[in-house]
Amino acid sequence: MPGDDSCRHQAPRDSVRDDKPTVIASPEAVLAGHPVGPRSNGAVCIGCGEALHETDIVFAYAYRCTDAADWVVLRLYCLGCAPARIRSPTLGVTEVLVGGRLGTITLPTARTHRQCLTELQSRAVSPPTEGGPP
Ligand SMILES: [Zn+2]
Repeated sequence: MPGDDSCRHQAPRDSVRDDKPTVIASPEAVLAGHPVGPRSNGAVCIGCGEALHETDIVFAYAYRCTDAADWVVLRLYCLGCAPARIRSPTLGVTEVLVGGRLGTITLPTARTHRQCLTELQSRAVSPPTEGGPP
């Protein structure tokens, strides 16, 4: 995978110190298996519009607001369109750019499957303390 991995050791860490035990997972770990695309086979690159298929190398821009539990995967890119960094970071939001491959996840209740993110590595991270006002 291209790019550097200098951010891999800078995964966001909550600096809140309270008595509750907190499980801290890296964004790559949380986003692994995250369904993408509107349908079972509908993921496209937001840069060039190319359809993305299982095993393709993909990059995803995802964010999580400080008070939210869930990550939102907002954009998918093919290898050629993936930006090297987070272009306009937002205060109060943890933003990541992760790269990996498209896999498939089975959704038993809906009796369907979706494309999902797998084998992720972090390419860029913007902690909530960085960026402009939302
Ligand atoms: Zn593209």
